[in-house]
Amino acid sequence: MVDSRIRRAVRLFLHPRSPAACYRNPYPLFSALVSRSLNLMLRVRNRLFPSHAVVCPVCRWSGSKFGYSSAASVNAFHANDICLDCGANRRTRRMLEVVTDVFDLNRTAVVVDVGAASATRKFFHHREQAQYLTVDLYKESDIRSSITDIDLGEGTADVVMCCHVLEHIIEDQRGIAELHRILKPKGLAILMVPQKAGLAQTQRIPDVTLDGFGHVWDYGDDFPNRVEEVGFVLLSSRAIEGRDPIHVFQKKSDCA
Ligand SMILES: [Zn+2]
Repeated sequence: MVDSRIRRAVRLFLHPRSPAACYRNPYPLFSALVSRSLNLMLRVRNRLFPSHAVVCPVCRWSGSKFGYSSAASVNAFHANDICLDCGANRRTRRMLEVVTDVFDLNRTAVVVDVGAASATRKFFHHREQAQYLTVDLYKESDIRSSITDIDLGEGTADVVMCCHVLEHIIEDQRGIAELHRILKPKGLAILMVPQKAGLAQTQRIPDVTLDGFGHVWDYGDDFPNRVEEVGFVLLSSRAIEGRDPIHVFQKKSDCA
């Protein structure tokens, strides 16, 4: 019994996702420490020299620039990324800018957010007109279900938002079909996935066989076509500094 507990503790300690496993690749820990230190300096500078060069659409925080971020799972370090107050990152802010541009959130509406970021939850918390429903299989949410089987009736939502979720789903077309099903006719789907520059056709990444862990799809330029196949029409695409466009689709009016 004790022996199995020790073995389990050792296994957890050595697991690649364990914080203790940073000896394998110390870069994420290093970049997290650097980004926190730089953000502390930015906060001090903002106190001493207040600026409104950038404004967060979620919490209205303003400063000379956004803060640094680092991702624990990949060797990535981003400047001018996160809000130093609410923590909204660049893609969350852009998603919210697009949804407020294309839809009047002051009217009564049902907005469904699949894989909702915490900053987006905060943003909608203050908008009482819109009924905001979060969907996630792994995080605390209004609807605890997978994108491939959302526990909502047909034609419920005016808007669905889905940011960086589909690339983790093996049956991504089924997920898109679910978004289509829960939308009212002419409802809007605001979708963002990582799209590989220069890749014309979407490719399946063969090694990943489980939803929710790692990317299953390398999306190419044909991503909008894959969505339109399900019964949507592409209304607009807006790139974020040349990367990962946010696409706005509309459910065809003749779809029930
Ligand atoms: Zn903010």
